[in-house]
Amino acid sequence: MEQTLAGRTAVVTGSTSGIGLGIAVMLAGAGARVMLNGFGKPEDIAAARLAVAEAGDGAEPHHSTADLSKPAEVRAMMVEAEGVLGQVDILVNNAGIQFTSPVKDFPEEKWDAIIAINLSANFHAIKAVLPGMQARGWGRIVNIASAHGLVGSPEKVAYVAAKHGVVGMTKVVALEWAQSGITCNAICPGFVRTPLAEVQVAAIAKAKGVPEDVALKDNLLAKQPSKRWVEVSEVARMALYLCGPDTGSLTGAALSLDGGWVAS
Ligand code: NAD
Repeated sequence: MEQTLAGRTAVVTGSTSGIGLGIAVMLAGAGARVMLNGFGKPEDIAAARLAVAEAGDGAEPHHSTADLSKPAEVRAMMVEAEGVLGQVDILVNNAGIQFTSPVKDFPEEKWDAIIAINLSANFHAIKAVLPGMQARGWGRIVNIASAHGLVGSPEKVAYVAAKHGVVGMTKVVALEWAQSGITCNAICPGFVRTPLAEVQVAAIAKAKGVPEDVALKDNLLAKQPSKRWVEVSEVARMALYLCGPDTGSLTGAALSLDGGWVAS
């Protein structure tokens, strides 16, 4: 792969699984030194580190165990990243969780957790990374939002609120830093084939007593005119593009990658 990110460093949150891991592998493949973060079984984290090492220069990336629901841990993770990487040129805010329930039954603690991890963690990480990016006159911030950052769906009140917040935050950061060499953009994927989405398919199938392929077609993919999953590699390629050298004027955007969902 072309080494468009040679010499760059990157923090990708929630990169032990799914989209975050795909992005970490993609950035490492383009020459960036990456720091991972996220939960998982030791063997899964080891496999993630190996995948990034194999895509990159062979060196296993550092893994931060920070729990992003806790602001102090987000801030500490960014200090840790500067220690490990020397500096942070690229920040990909990707960690996220989901919970579904009608508003009237939505548990308060699930609301708090989703807002903390999917929205507030992005703010704390961005605030921490900006001074270094400003000093160097270059930075790339990519927020993994969602089609649910642009439109709503029933039973996803916290997720939809958080992702709309991420799109708003992206615009403000882009505007404040528009003349600085720092860009900030959001990617808004539709349903991507990852553990987070597969759990939803399994839950719908169980609740409705239908096979998982039927639950997938009748529910998730019903929203997506392409009628297929978005693949992790598609999101990772868009993230790589946004982090590259040719996108200095691309800032404040919420880029849909959703098989036509929000166009419909
Ligand atoms: P995933 O469950 O495969 O991965 C989520 C990652 O976040 C994991 O590494 C997990 O350990 C980490 N994480 C969760 N809570 C954390 C915490 N408190 N602190 C640190 N790390 C934490 O999910 P995914 O589908 O890859 O989702 C990644 C992002 O993409 C999320 O922000 C999600 O909202 C967004 N997204 C996903 C889809 C989809 O269909 N899968 C669609 C649109 C947007």
